[in-house]
Amino acid sequence: MLKYYNYDVVFQEVPDEVSLAINLTNCPNHCPACHSPHLWENIGAELTEDELSRLVEIYRGDITCVCIMGGDAAKNEVETLAHYIKNTLKLKVAWYSGRYDKPVNINDFDYIKFGPYDDEKGGLKSPETNQRFYKVTDGNLIDCTERFQRKH
Ligand code: SF4
Repeated sequence: MLKYYNYDVVFQEVPDEVSLAINLTNCPNHCPACHSPHLWENIGAELTEDELSRLVEIYRGDITCVCIMGGDAAKNEVETLAHYIKNTLKLKVAWYSGRYDKPVNINDFDYIKFGPYDDEKGGLKSPETNQRFYKVTDGNLIDCTERFQRKH
């Protein structure tokens, strides 16, 4: 079961998109120096398809993308939700994963960030980052990490 802690409309997490970013809980990655350790707990409201639809309708017309932040403990459910967002809600889908596991059906996603947070290497804005941000185009992963490392 996916649960979420909070959500916000954001502009920088996905280049060229206005995203409804939803912070999922029960993160299993436990990165040292995690910026949001409260997301390790299995707390929050259940993110069902109905609940997601309700959130999307609040911002319909203002957002172009839903950004799923986390969910590595239930990757299959993230993939099911991505399929629903893309095919039923008709919005783009981004996923911020703390791992490097590719989804089974990559075409249900438009953007994917892979990798845990390493404080020494920094996040996506750091040239030394271990994290990668990809755009999905025709089933291929196009590395766009450098978009975070310059003004855009
Ligand atoms: S993946 Fe994100 S939320 Fe989870 S432990 Fe790492 S930094 Fe924290």
